[in-house]
Amino acid sequence: MAAEVRVRYAPSPTGQPHIGNIRTALFNWLFARHHGGKFIVRVEDTDQNRLVPGAVEAILDGLRWLNIDWDEGPEVDGPHAPYVQSQRLEIYQRLTEQLLDQGNAYYCYCSREELERLRRTNRDSGAGNGCNCRRQGRAGAVGVPSGDDDRVVRFAMPESGVTQVHDLIRGDVEWRNELQEDFVILKSDGFPTYHLAVVTDDHLMEISHVMRAEEWLPSTPRHLQLNRAFGFQPPRFAHLPMITGPDRAKLSKRHGATAIGEYRDEGYLPEALLNFMVLLGWSLDGSSEVVTLQQIIDNFTLDRITKSAAIFDQDKLMWMNGVYIRDLTPGDLSSRMASFIPRQLDAGEQDYLCRIAPLVQERLKRLDDSDDMTAYFFGELAPEYDALTLVQKGMDSVATLSALKAALDDLTANTAEADFGHEKLESLLGETGQRLELSRRQFFGLLRTAATGRTVSPPLFETMEVMGRDRVLARLRLATQKMGAAA
Ligand code: GLU
Repeated sequence: MAAEVRVRYAPSPTGQPHIGNIRTALFNWLFARHHGGKFIVRVEDTDQNRLVPGAVEAILDGLRWLNIDWDEGPEVDGPHAPYVQSQRLEIYQRLTEQLLDQGNAYYCYCSREELERLRRTNRDSGAGNGCNCRRQGRAGAVGVPSGDDDRVVRFAMPESGVTQVHDLIRGDVEWRNELQEDFVILKSDGFPTYHLAVVTDDHLMEISHVMRAEEWLPSTPRHLQLNRAFGFQPPRFAHLPMITGPDRAKLSKRHGATAIGEYRDEGYLPEALLNFMVLLGWSLDGSSEVVTLQQIIDNFTLDRITKSAAIFDQDKLMWMNGVYIRDLTPGDLSSRMASFIPRQLDAGEQDYLCRIAPLVQERLKRLDDSDDMTAYFFGELAPEYDALTLVQKGMDSVATLSALKAALDDLTANTAEADFGHEKLESLLGETGQRLELSRRQFFGLLRTAATGRTVSPPLFETMEVMGRDRVLARLRLATQKMGAAA
């Protein structure tokens, strides 16, 4: 590609960023990084009625969390600042004047209802596009609307011919001009519409490729005609495939699709979510699922982007998260887990968590399970449990009580704080169980409940080793008391 690649992510701050719009950001960023080009963030806030406070911060936080950095845009600025459209009104107004002067735009005073009526009559009579305002030209009016009257400025679409685009993903697409309406470019409050602002800024910011969601494809003839009227060289267009739920309906909250911040709060790793999102429309070779960021960047070419809709599969995301969790070092995993444990861990507890982490790594699917999955490691005593869960199949309370006492005696006599390794525990307690003529399932089952307060845990002897001798003995003692009281 000869000229520099400059792509942009142009979010409207109208709510929390979702998978769909962050996927657009990600694809643009990857394309820029692949080509050694620039990735620009531009805030499209010209629809003042739909602004949601805090949305810009949420969008930028979402990008930062995913490690998507931008070369130009809010906070970093750049040669085409400002990167917030509401701060660029004069530019759009100046360009509107230009179109008015050239006769490519006109003031329109019609209400929505009038236009609707007109559209119906025009359709029936086969007449052209616009209302009478179009034919009157400037008719004495000057300047651009500034909120003191009801006029808007509309673009005069050509009334015949076709507008064509060679979309880099979808191929050739064309539209008949007479079917396009004369859209508003400047609203009565002096703010531009999306169409005018997007074309202006893509040109001034020297955007080489517009990569955006497929839903914007129908707007493309408007953008091309605006470019033509201005005499701008239009950017290349690439419309990304739609994202659907497993039922093939457009992705929505009901498919479990939530805002990016919710994925973070639910304990998805940013690198797992990034890998998952890139597969929503791109594929390395048609089958690889877990792909490193470097592999993605190296291979992020448009021919690998699919035309067909991408299916969002929540189970796959969960699976992918587990894959990435299993790949973390104990230190990395435990520090990420720590941020999901509500209480503040002191240095000793953090060390302890680092030894616990490998034990739960296999079963941890989301970091927000961290607290629940590690709670019983902390504190001297196991969390509350029912004494009867100590009693295993084929045993009664009396047998359970003597088995607990035997375990306690053997551990007290034959182990030391520094000699509490899992292999030793397994052979020692294996012999105790045999002596008691209990099956491994019975004896280890009751030890598991006694040590953890749970019937399911990571491998028992590794768990006991990490918990340490004092804690295990204290818990066995408590279990003995509980059983004694129940027997
Ligand atoms: N502001 C538009 C949006 O929120 C951007 C569309 C475009 O990329 O042209 O999706």
